[in-house]
Amino acid sequence: MNISKTDYLEYTFCKKNLWLKKHKPELFVGAELSEFEKKIIEEGNLADEAARHLFPNGTLMEMVGRKAVAPTQAVLSTNPPVLFQGAFVWDDFFVQADVLQFNTVLGGWELFEVKATNDVKREVPHHHVNDLAFQKTVLEQSGLNVVKTGVIHLNGEYRQQGKVDYNALFTIVDLTDEVLTAELEVQEQMTDLKTYLRMEEEKGCECLYRGRNAQCTTFCYSNPQVPEYAVHDINRIGGSKKMFYDWIDRGIYTLDEIDNPQALKGAKKAQYDAYITGRPLINHTAIQKAFAGLVYPLQFFDYEGYSSAIPRFDGFGAYEQVPFQYSLHTLHEDGTLDHKEFLITRPEGDLTRALVERMREDFDERGSVISWYKSYESQRNHKLAELHTDHAPFLEALNDRMFDLMEIFSKNYYVDAKFKGSASIKNVLPVLVPELTYKALGIQKGDQAVERWEKMIHKATPQEEKDSIARDLLAYCKLDTLAMVEIYRFLQRVLGT
Ligand code: SF4
Repeated sequence: MNISKTDYLEYTFCKKNLWLKKHKPELFVGAELSEFEKKIIEEGNLADEAARHLFPNGTLMEMVGRKAVAPTQAVLSTNPPVLFQGAFVWDDFFVQADVLQFNTVLGGWELFEVKATNDVKREVPHHHVNDLAFQKTVLEQSGLNVVKTGVIHLNGEYRQQGKVDYNALFTIVDLTDEVLTAELEVQEQMTDLKTYLRMEEEKGCECLYRGRNAQCTTFCYSNPQVPEYAVHDINRIGGSKKMFYDWIDRGIYTLDEIDNPQALKGAKKAQYDAYITGRPLINHTAIQKAFAGLVYPLQFFDYEGYSSAIPRFDGFGAYEQVPFQYSLHTLHEDGTLDHKEFLITRPEGDLTRALVERMREDFDERGSVISWYKSYESQRNHKLAELHTDHAPFLEALNDRMFDLMEIFSKNYYVDAKFKGSASIKNVLPVLVPELTYKALGIQKGDQAVERWEKMIHKATPQEEKDSIARDLLAYCKLDTLAMVEIYRFLQRVLGT
């Protein structure tokens, strides 16, 4: 059996899922990685490559997997000062180490793991200390003397200016002592992991006792008794362990079967009531009060943002959101609706200046600014104000008059059981305005938009494709703000205004 470091980390998070991946891979056919998951992997690879600049004399093992083990030994016999992606195997376990640097004073190897994160993680499944302890075990059992272990992660304070300064971009953290402390426990886990993978399949899985958000795609396979709309879908039910576990232990899976609804409070109670009555729960007074402060023209606004582990644009740091597009629908008091939009198509010069300048033209200086989950838009405005100080008063004023439409739903002023306890616009829109759908669009989700923008600004992308992507991006963002307009209009009809 081949057990990689990724397998080990997955085991510490969910052993059943790892067992299924090894023994029933057919369950995962069709469960493709999302654009977001693909980007995380890609960012990890890019960070790994970038960190090699810190070790100018390194030798890179180009091969991937077990076939790289023998060539690694051949390279080691030449005493290289630094080795990237050296491959090692011990028993069933396999490791390909990001960086090995020989320490001539201590007479052994320093092992570094490159992480595309802004700090050291010490929680499963991304436990950097355990990750290193696993690697160190395999390396030492393969005959290497490991004298030091550490993580190379991104420096969250770094801001790009011109060429990348790799020494400033990365931070090296020595974890030698922590890894030594963790080693024994990790080695016990490695033994348990081997035993577990050789066992018969375990019945069910632990997510039976977790809310829907924690579950992976195999939940239905392991727990076929749980219906599609279950107690697992109740708002943040994973946090109410006593009540939730009691239902599961007594075989209560549907909301109709709940025999102690008086124990439900707040958002959970509202969702339950809406489900049982089959009608939305509407707090007219609270919605009226929330809308009372709105001033026309109502400006429905949305940014799309891009981020990357290795900063690509001046003024931005690792994973900092770069607003590359906006859509603005303006609803006037007489009911007329205008639309304005902007998309950065060429990443040149002062990247976001033209975007801000267009915002100044497109926004009315009066009226409320409406967004969904306003902290995202207001944080982008803060960042743009920091970059373009001449426009700071305008951008900060937008934040001062910003209203979060999502709060009507997150504060349970309007609850429909079909939202399944979520206030995401992707859950609310299909219930309240089903005729407005993303399904016909070339881009249907935020992570796709990010991937498409990256493709559009790439030099090698043909102009025709760039134009097509630009159209898709504009259509996607436009629907985001139109969705807010139509949800607002729906709520106005509910209020009878
Ligand atoms: S549903 Fe949860 S416990 Fe079950 S296999 Fe997936 S992640 Fe693991």
